[in-house]
Amino acid sequence: MHAPRVAEKATPYWWEAAPLMPPPQQPIAKKLDVLIVGAGYAGLSAGLVLAREGRSVAAYDAMDPGEGASTRNGGITSGSIRPDYATLTRRFGEERALAIEAEGKAAREFLYDFIRTEGLACDFQPVGQFKGAFGYEQYEAIARTAERLAKKLGIEAYAVPYAEQRQYIGTDVYRGGTVRMDIGGLHPAKFHAELLRVALASGLTVHARTPVISIDRDGSGFRVVTAAGPVQARQVLVCTNGYTDGAVPFLRRRLVPVRSRIIATEELAPEVMARLMPKRMMITESREVGFYYRPSPDGKRILLGGRDSSRVGDPVAPKLLLRKGLVNLFPELEAVRLSHTWFGHVAMNRDMIPRIFEKEGIVYASGFCGSGVVWAPWVGMHAAHKLMGHEERARTAFDFRPPAFIPFYRGNPWFMPAFIQGYRMRDRIAMWRASR
Ligand SMILES: Cc1cc2nc3c(=O)[nH]c(=O)nc-3n(C[C@H](O)[C@H](O)[C@H](O)COP(=O)(O)OP(=O)(O)OC[C@H]3O[C@@H](n4cnc5c(N)ncnc54)[C@H](O)[C@@H]3O)c2cc1C
Repeated sequence: MHAPRVAEKATPYWWEAAPLMPPPQQPIAKKLDVLIVGAGYAGLSAGLVLAREGRSVAAYDAMDPGEGASTRNGGITSGSIRPDYATLTRRFGEERALAIEAEGKAAREFLYDFIRTEGLACDFQPVGQFKGAFGYEQYEAIARTAERLAKKLGIEAYAVPYAEQRQYIGTDVYRGGTVRMDIGGLHPAKFHAELLRVALASGLTVHARTPVISIDRDGSGFRVVTAAGPVQARQVLVCTNGYTDGAVPFLRRRLVPVRSRIIATEELAPEVMARLMPKRMMITESREVGFYYRPSPDGKRILLGGRDSSRVGDPVAPKLLLRKGLVNLFPELEAVRLSHTWFGHVAMNRDMIPRIFEKEGIVYASGFCGSGVVWAPWVGMHAAHKLMGHEERARTAFDFRPPAFIPFYRGNPWFMPAFIQGYRMRDRIAMWRASR
């Protein structure tokens, strides 16, 4: 018996306007200055910088370029860091914690400037982000964060009390929230297609559907075996994030892929969209495993995403969970039809902080923890400067040591469903306490 269809299509909504377009096949170069593994935002951004600096550089992707997370995401330019400021301060001290937060601001500005100066047609809309609070305790906590961001970093951020919430979002589920005007939305697949266009024009070669199979030291460089044959590379950069496979076992044991899923509604009436999302903002929530959602760039649909704790196949339960979440927020959408639902992999380090690091001569740029629209281009660009030995331009608060090893883990995240359920339980307890 077939499971009921929750949505019309199981492919990303984004691929309707920007289908995957693998570049024409090219002969492989036997020798390269730099070989990049992965052609998502991180790999392409690094390749663009390296090619413009005159390096012979090629990016290899096991799938079509962008088919990983970079054309599947929500397009929210959050650039957020999972651990909160108090945790960062406890771990690294106040100076470093503030430097990490300040880097978020710099990375967002870099992205917006890049889109503008390169003329990337990717529906970027600097509309701001609303974060909904579950209960007054969480409202007060996120209001304090907004105040600190405004004071310390000059970000336009402010609290929105419950009484004013409906000016921002047509739900009563939250007990107020905060707004940040430095965050906006873009069309992720158009952004990737445009990045690919300028990277190719700058001299980067991109090989689609050509996995890298192994990377071994060879004299002062590396012998990289690809599905199209061996390549001698002076340097190697790994940008495989949530799709890391056995070709890079060191990273695979340190990076956990987690499914994130999105549903897209059918087109809604303009008056419904105006009532539910009056300011067309990006939306996030204060709980640990919350939803992220937004209007489509044309303002006609709602796209809502969240964690998907399944690991194999394409089961129906996670789709229904998101649908239920959508209706809980907006009861008038009870009978709404969904046009698309799809998932992709985000990548979590043990400490939930993005990374550039070097191990045995190979440079790695990954661990974006679900916030790679801002971080992947930024970290990719810095990784390129690191490879070229540009110390000053490579410097970032993320130039860390390799992420910690995860015990009993070799690339099969068997523990993830239980982990996500644990976080959901914590959220339920917090929401129950808030409702008393
Ligand atoms: C559903 C979803 C929603 C998201 N929403 C947001 C959001 O709203 N905002 C935000 O900031 N971030 C979001 N993200 C995260 C964001 O999409 C990612 O962090 C970002 O795209 C990572 O880019 P990347 O280049 O590092 O990796 P990817 O785009 O995942 O690319 C990695 C590539 O490596 C390739 N690869 C792996 N192994 C090999 C190999 N051996 N040989 C060759 N190639 C290989 C893969 O084929 C893949 O194409 C979301 C992610 C998902 C899945």
